[in-house]
Amino acid sequence: MWALVSLVIILCYLVSPVFAVQKQSKSAQKVKGVTHVVAAGQTLFEISQAYHVRVSVLMQANHIKSSTRLKPGQRLFIPGAKSVKKVKVYRPLTTQERSVLERSLSDEVVAPPLPTEPLRPRIKTDAELVWPIVGPINSPFGPRWGKFHAGIDIGSPHYQEVVAALDGEVLYADDTKGPLGKAVVIQHGRELRTVYAHLSIVIAQEGDTVRQGQAIGGVGDTGRATGPHLHFEVRQNGVALNPLEYLPSTIDELVQDLSRKQ
Ligand SMILES: [Zn+2]
Repeated sequence: MWALVSLVIILCYLVSPVFAVQKQSKSAQKVKGVTHVVAAGQTLFEISQAYHVRVSVLMQANHIKSSTRLKPGQRLFIPGAKSVKKVKVYRPLTTQERSVLERSLSDEVVAPPLPTEPLRPRIKTDAELVWPIVGPINSPFGPRWGKFHAGIDIGSPHYQEVVAALDGEVLYADDTKGPLGKAVVIQHGRELRTVYAHLSIVIAQEGDTVRQGQAIGGVGDTGRATGPHLHFEVRQNGVALNPLEYLPSTIDELVQDLSRKQ
């Protein structure tokens, strides 16, 4: 008798995952969306832009572990989409575009591109970007030694992981052979670009789709740098913007704000 009961229990245990899977796939089917067939040259980033869906959402919906490359003919489920959209094709930089970009990658720009307002106090908890590394700001954006610092310098030990501040496509990942040393430039939507410089190692490759928070390289002191740090820039249509306007408040800023209010 007991042998029979235990057999039934064991059978139920073995069969239950089958039901669970069926239940799951039924609920997955409820999510509306369309199937996009990947054409040659289309990247996860360009697809995410066309459908206004985050790269991480596309990865999760399609069980994709690495965002970097897609295969032509690959079928992607786009959750929430109502119709199939036209998607741009990734185009590598031409030799001329590459040299123009490399020349623009300088730690400092001659004239301030925008009038700068005093920023503090700045409390931003709904910022679009994430910090590429955590560390103190050793040199802020703005006038410096008669020139203009085009980004912020974030202090950090060597080889600290640098992450993409926003979903994007790697436009440049190379040694600039200039003051910024080894650098990565990521193209985001709305003509927004971010620059990560003085890297010790570059992990990201040109043409890769990177999701927000994905590692792209390690902190270093390549180029003109007195010690390891990350030079981080935000540019829109080529104009350098203050990265702090796009980054969430630091814990220090939140604490200062709180003590001011009390
Ligand atoms: Zn700098």
